[in-house]
Amino acid sequence: MTNADTGTPGSAITGLACGSCTRAYPDTEPILTCRACGNPLDAIYDYHAIRERFSLDRVLRRPPSVWRWHEFLPVRDLRHVVDLGAGSTPLLHAERLGGVLGLRRLYLKRDDIGPTSSLKDRSFAVAVSKAVELGVRQAFTYSSGNAAASLAAHAAKAGIEVVLLVNEQASAQKLAMIATYGHPILRLRWTMFQEVTELLRFAHEELGLYHFVNFANPFRHEGQKTYGYEVWWELEQRVPDWMVHPTGTGGGVYGAWRGFTELRTVGLTNRVPKMLVVEPEACAPAVVAYERGAHGASPHGDVHATICDSIACNDLPYGGRRVLTAVYESGGAAVSVSDEETTEAARLLTQEGIFAEPSAATGVAAVRKLVVAGTIDPEEVVVCVITGSGLKHLDVTGLHALERVPVIPTTATAFREALAVLRRSSSGRAPGLAVGAEVTTGA
Ligand SMILES: *Cc1c(COP(=O)(O)O)cnc(C)c1O
Ligand SMILES: [Zn+2]
Repeated sequence: MTNADTGTPGSAITGLACGSCTRAYPDTEPILTCRACGNPLDAIYDYHAIRERFSLDRVLRRPPSVWRWHEFLPVRDLRHVVDLGAGSTPLLHAERLGGVLGLRRLYLKRDDIGPTSSLKDRSFAVAVSKAVELGVRQAFTYSSGNAAASLAAHAAKAGIEVVLLVNEQASAQKLAMIATYGHPILRLRWTMFQEVTELLRFAHEELGLYHFVNFANPFRHEGQKTYGYEVWWELEQRVPDWMVHPTGTGGGVYGAWRGFTELRTVGLTNRVPKMLVVEPEACAPAVVAYERGAHGASPHGDVHATICDSIACNDLPYGGRRVLTAVYESGGAAVSVSDEETTEAARLLTQEGIFAEPSAATGVAAVRKLVVAGTIDPEEVVVCVITGSGLKHLDVTGLHALERVPVIPTTATAFREALAVLRRSSSGRAPGLAVGAEVTTGA
């Protein structure tokens, strides 16, 4: 397990196991789901070995990326790593926003910063590197946009051929970015996510293509675990009270929860945060299941009826059992937010200097609701993951601002007049962000 170059312990992976029937598989073959029961697999590690050898000092001396945490990651040989710099994102203490929401200790984990500007980079850094290790040559994924952008970038560098299936509704900016990498792309029209799942099964089983869809690929959520480690370290080796996660298929929130539970397993913390799953009201299968106390989710809602396209999922893969496990076992909750609440949250985030896509702002909207409801205590430490950048979602977040920004000639008179008009009409507000209530100015 020792890597001679860096003198550091390598991956502690020992294999894969089915989460349902516990059947074991080697992690050295490109196996996706359980051959016996069809359910998702999880990587298994020798936590005892990690516990014996783990050294935070050594981790922090490694370059800042997800690979710092190599012990907990499934890639055996670092020569297979495809590193575009995913992970090690800033954790900001959001004092102004916290003031508006009534929280002293609100933090924002900025996963809108990274190789392709979304949380997907953590998961593709790890899953594509593992695919390289497994000798995968041809693969595909389905995506609402951010996953395809991240896979496009990582596969380009890895030299893996990929076919990208993207939701018909993906924004022009997401499509343009994905297309620039030059892999084949198809836009997919569907109503229930189950239709996508069936097409994926066909492509894998009949066409023999490896794929990268959350949960059906065992390694995507392994990358998301690295939030847990980073947040724990950034909060001075403590876990927050709440970890708030915009949720689509649930790979992100499940991965984060798994990361925290691993820290507990190896003795670096004695508790895990309450995981808060956030979905749009228009399609909220995990929230509906949570409100009923159910451990499996039924289909719910319309994915086309929300501006939160990146987290619009109306039929959770494998009944959402992993997402609900993370909620129940952490003592967390699941809550839905309306597009109006999300738009207002995106506007509030600009006070912290952040331009988030709508899906990424839902966490802040949810926290605002739960503080008012008394579920979140004002003294608790709350981390919201900002999952994606507003730059890839201009049709909602900003393009309409263009029409409202005047064009003037370079004369002093025109400038003075235009300024007077702007001051009168906007009274200090940013153009294009006119939805919602007045922002309280703290400082
Ligand atoms: C993919 C995505 C999520 C959530 O991802 P899941 O792992 O599918 O739950 C959240 N926010 C943004 C911006 C995303 O692109
Ligand atoms: Zn099984």
